Amino acid sequence: MYFYGIDYTYIVLVLPAMIFAMWAQFNVSSTFKKYSKVQIRSGMTGYDSARLILDQNGLFNVRIEQVSGELTDHYDPRANVIRLSSSVYGSSTAAAVGVAAHEAGHAVQHAVGYTPIKFRTAIIPISQIGSTLAFPLFLIGILFSFPMLAYLGVAFFGAATLFQLVTLPVEFNASRRAVDALKTSGMLDGEQLDSASKVLRAAALTYVAALAVSLANFIRLFIIAGRSKRD
Ligand SMILES: [Zn+2]
Repeated sequence: MYFYGIDYTYIVLVLPAMIFAMWAQFNVSSTFKKYSKVQIRSGMTGYDSARLILDQNGLFNVRIEQVSGELTDHYDPRANVIRLSSSVYGSSTAAAVGVAAHEAGHAVQHAVGYTPIKFRTAIIPISQIGSTLAFPLFLIGILFSFPMLAYLGVAFFGAATLFQLVTLPVEFNASRRAVDALKTSGMLDGEQLDSASKVLRAAALTYVAALAVSLANFIRLFIIAGRSKRD
């Protein structure tokens, strides 16, 4: 019987992915801070830029609120609200305008029925059930030598990993919409547009890292389940 602890699969798979994720988190914070010092010429705030993009897309019904915390900005499709952190909402910086435009991009994705976001919304329940049941099923399967149960746990974990995978096109596309909108509306140009793009790229990397961590754990569970079958 293999105990679910530290072994080679942890060292070669999970640990590097976790280090990457920690670096990505640090990187997005420092990039955001750096470009929060770049004041934009138009004087538009994060709120203004999100509002403009929403209105240009006819999304007058989407509200914009302020939320506490750092980098807590998000679009809530159920309430149809964009929530911007205080360092984004009222700031006229390349970082703030970039993040706000990205969240507006998510609202536009919902409005136009962007396929990956529809797919992602559809698999939310299964991925939530998956991430709740995966480890208990897996552990019971391993401890009581029930390989099928362990594999079922792995499959459930896979559903959560799939969710992370589908998150990538959604995030990249929201950033692309943001940069396009900032450019075509003339809100940002040249170096300021580059600054906003850099913040969005750093943010996208955190989603790549989250997928890497999830995938590493998925492969690891699969290997451990396979070992228990052979015993
Ligand atoms: Zn996003």
